[in-house]
Amino acid sequence: MTARIYLDNAATTPPDPRVIEAAQPFLTRVWGNPSSLHQEGREAREAVDVARRQVAELIGARREEIVFTGSGTEADNMAIQGVALAAGDRPCHVVVSAIEHPAVLECCRALEQRGVAVELLPVNAEGIVDPADLERSLRPETRLVSVMAANNVLGTLQPVAELAGIARRRGVLFHTDAVQAAGKTPINVQSQQIDLLSLSAHKLHGPKGIGALYVRDGVKLPPLVPGGGQEGGRRSGTENVAAIVAFGRAAEIARLEMASEAARLVRIRDFIIDSLSQAIDNSYLIGHRFRRLPGHICLGFEGMEGEAIKLLLALDEAGVAVSSGSACSSNHAGQPSHVLQAIGFNPIKARGSLRITLGRFNTMAEAERLMEVLPPIVRSLRPMHGMMRHDKRTSAAV
Ligand code: PLP
Repeated sequence: MTARIYLDNAATTPPDPRVIEAAQPFLTRVWGNPSSLHQEGREAREAVDVARRQVAELIGARREEIVFTGSGTEADNMAIQGVALAAGDRPCHVVVSAIEHPAVLECCRALEQRGVAVELLPVNAEGIVDPADLERSLRPETRLVSVMAANNVLGTLQPVAELAGIARRRGVLFHTDAVQAAGKTPINVQSQQIDLLSLSAHKLHGPKGIGALYVRDGVKLPPLVPGGGQEGGRRSGTENVAAIVAFGRAAEIARLEMASEAARLVRIRDFIIDSLSQAIDNSYLIGHRFRRLPGHICLGFEGMEGEAIKLLLALDEAGVAVSSGSACSSNHAGQPSHVLQAIGFNPIKARGSLRITLGRFNTMAEAERLMEVLPPIVRSLRPMHGMMRHDKRTSAAV
């Protein structure tokens, strides 16, 4: 039996053995409560402090500016709800991109019910926000701009520094969901003028259920989880020490290996993109050709938009795990993707894409195997009739 090939690293990444090794003692030997004053507690506290520094270093922040959360979703909510809560009874306008993850969009929807005005920024055909649109959207009562650093469907990178610069000049806080981007592409909260930034460990070869929010020194955010005052009073609850330690080590490895790893992944990514254009007629890359995450490919196959799930399942049967990129999870499988619709796809076309996302443990040999398996599957599923014309405006041919 040939080994399975995991190409869905945007969904989650396999934990790095070095990360598990770092966390192990905190599940067995070092089990103290970091709030306790005795030696057991102090040992746990020191480990949390080291991890906080490691996570801070990944994004050019200071240790005190990192708040550990239970997920990237929680970090997004802490940032957005926090800013809205801090506004109190004053009018509150929030600007977010139309292609944000549901962690941001659903949070905004809930805020709308409470009277917050939410404005969605459009993106171009490659999924990129135009800074001029942001400039135009700002109002005196705008309190927050939130634009993700990298999109989870397309892999497209946003001009974060430019967008954050506009917000800063207008006195508006800037949040970025860097859950997909962190550890894969350089981020520096100082030079990029970011006020709030969300992270999630399981996207960078750490464990699930642990995230972080960077909160720039001086930004006032009321606690969403009041209680014993952990995490500087911002997020109460006894810390998940083992997961925090693992996150710290994952962040450290990602920082140290980012440059070489990105170059390696770009080679594999571009091999897949180039080979597919030769092997499969009418396949096209979705999103920007170069302004994208090093290991991220989002593909369309003309006339097969309704077949994305079948394609995914056939690949799964052949031993290759990918994502259908249509909606963000199996809970919404087959529904049109708000991201694909935002880049101009009609609802039918927006039902189907194939997301292939690489990680630290993928190899060129696996990419070559994918290229043996994928073209015959596409040909076998492709309908003979009614092929839709490929719209050059909304996607670049591979
Ligand atoms: N933001 C983005 C861009 C994501 O891709 C994800 C996860 O897919 C999240 C937020 C949510 O992170 P978590 O799974 O840690 O809640």
